[in-house]
Amino acid sequence: MAYAYDDQNIFAKILRGEIPNKTVLETDHSLAFFDIYPQAPVHVLVIPKGAYVCFDHFAQEASDAEIIDYTRAVGEVCKMQGVKDGGWRLISNAGEAAIQEVPHLHVHILAGRPLGPMLSKGPT
Ligand code: 5GP
Repeated sequence: MAYAYDDQNIFAKILRGEIPNKTVLETDHSLAFFDIYPQAPVHVLVIPKGAYVCFDHFAQEASDAEIIDYTRAVGEVCKMQGVKDGGWRLISNAGEAAIQEVPHLHVHILAGRPLGPMLSKGPT
């Protein structure tokens, strides 16, 4: 089934400049900004400018230029935020099971405190 993109989602509005954001980095194909409800001292979201719902959508349909730009943007934000020394986590929630709140691809870059286990314990 094709991915259905809702252009009224909050990150689409941020990209159109309809909602403000605290930008960390902007590139040709990507935008990084601070999460409005930070869960760690460093909590940055990185989104592609293209209309992709989630990571698998992006990985399947984005151009090589978009994928390279996005990957490099994540690396640049990590460098800018100095996450390397203490350790950090990259998360991308997709769909219902992962409780994806905003249906525009984003990765969370989290750092600056012990981040705990990858998942809360539950049935496998
Ligand atoms: P998800 O659960 O979809 O992986 O994460 C969505 C994230 O977007 C949450 O961490 C939430 O705090 C953040 N968020 C939601 N609305 C806004 C907003 O208007 N501005 C910013 N900067 N972050 C937002």
